[in-house]
Amino acid sequence: MTKPILIVGGGPAGLAAAHALASIGQRSLLVEKEPRLGGAPILSGYAKLVPSGEWAKDAIGGMVKRVEQSSSIALKRNCRVEQFNGEPGNFTARLSDGSTLEAGAAILTTGFTHFDSVNKPEWGFGTFPDVVTTTQVEQMISTGKGIRCPSDGRKPQRVAILLCVGSRDRQIGREWCSKICCTVSCNIAMEIREELPDCHVYIYYMDIRTYGLNEAYYWRSQEEFKVKYIKARIAEVTSDGHKLIVKGEDTLVKRPITIPFDMVVHAIGMDPNVENKSIAAVFGVQLQEHGHIGKGNSYGSLGETSRPGVFVAGAATGPETIDDSIAQGKAAAMAAFALLSQRTAVAA
Ligand SMILES: Cc1cc2nc3c(=O)[nH]c(=O)nc-3n(C[C@H](O)[C@H](O)[C@H](O)COP(=O)(O)OP(=O)(O)OC[C@H]3O[C@@H](n4cnc5c(N)ncnc54)[C@H](O)[C@@H]3O)c2cc1C
Ligand code: SF4
Repeated sequence: MTKPILIVGGGPAGLAAAHALASIGQRSLLVEKEPRLGGAPILSGYAKLVPSGEWAKDAIGGMVKRVEQSSSIALKRNCRVEQFNGEPGNFTARLSDGSTLEAGAAILTTGFTHFDSVNKPEWGFGTFPDVVTTTQVEQMISTGKGIRCPSDGRKPQRVAILLCVGSRDRQIGREWCSKICCTVSCNIAMEIREELPDCHVYIYYMDIRTYGLNEAYYWRSQEEFKVKYIKARIAEVTSDGHKLIVKGEDTLVKRPITIPFDMVVHAIGMDPNVENKSIAAVFGVQLQEHGHIGKGNSYGSLGETSRPGVFVAGAATGPETIDDSIAQGKAAAMAAFALLSQRTAVAA
């Protein structure tokens, strides 16, 4: 019998990998550092997901339940892998709870870290309480509190959503596009307009990247929900003591623009997991130039890293959507399973 496959990280990618393995009778051990499974959509309290429109707590919650109920999947929460030695088919891992385990292969599904907007101080986060992030707005919606200005709880009459905060910004070392934040922002804009029909919502953008079928969010937000789009470079977010003031340049007409708002929302991007250096050291895998976990040849076998027997999937490899993270989790599970099956066949 093959040894279990170690999965590190219980977000959408890790949950999908564990379920895929269980469905073909392969045992796995899922190690999650937090007390709860579900990854960013659950831990950060996302509201309705794009593009499915399902609540995160139902969609990803369902994936969590499926894994928790499986007899083929052993779970360790509040736990990390501290050492990982051996070779494909025959690895040994030491965990932070003092236990050791044998594994045939490992799949890293350790995800990403939300960009911390204090790293963009000129855009007001951390200085003005009514400058918030998309994650905070998701939480306002998912907890049922509704869209309110954190400073005094009032309903905002004017909201600005600033795209690409912590993405496509070479000045702060983040040149990548985070892929999903345009669509998430169009969706949030519509949710705000639905809850507060008198509230004016403006989206400040460099480019709109509602790729593929997600383009429908862009059009619907304008045509049905009257969300306004301004192509601009933002200089700063300040306050006149009463309103937040967004200053920048309208890059279509090449003129400075200064508009007052009650609330400003940063559409934050996806940074590499802040722990990637230590994860790479423990598992002996290479990171790519920006600090994501490096992928091997994608054409032969999806999910390979620089170390045979150690696979990777989801946002650990760079900004990914939930659907793609799930697909990659399944693909990595299949690649790890194929590796172990080949070894068993050769040994027999
Ligand atoms: C504001 C915002 C809204 C979004 N909304 C959507 C949306 O509506 N639709 C969509 O498709 N995508 C959305 N995304 C993207 C989505 O969050 C990711 O696609 C998804 O979370 C990636 O799943 P993952 O499993 O790869 O990583 P994660 O969700 O990051 O999960 C990784 C897991 O690994 C754990 N972990 C990390 N390090 C360790 C370690 N050392 N040891 C053990 N465990 C560890 C973490 O605690 C976490 O549970 C959004 C992103 C943002 C920023
Ligand atoms: S998806 Fe949109 S908001 Fe996000 S980084 Fe790319 S262009 Fe910017």
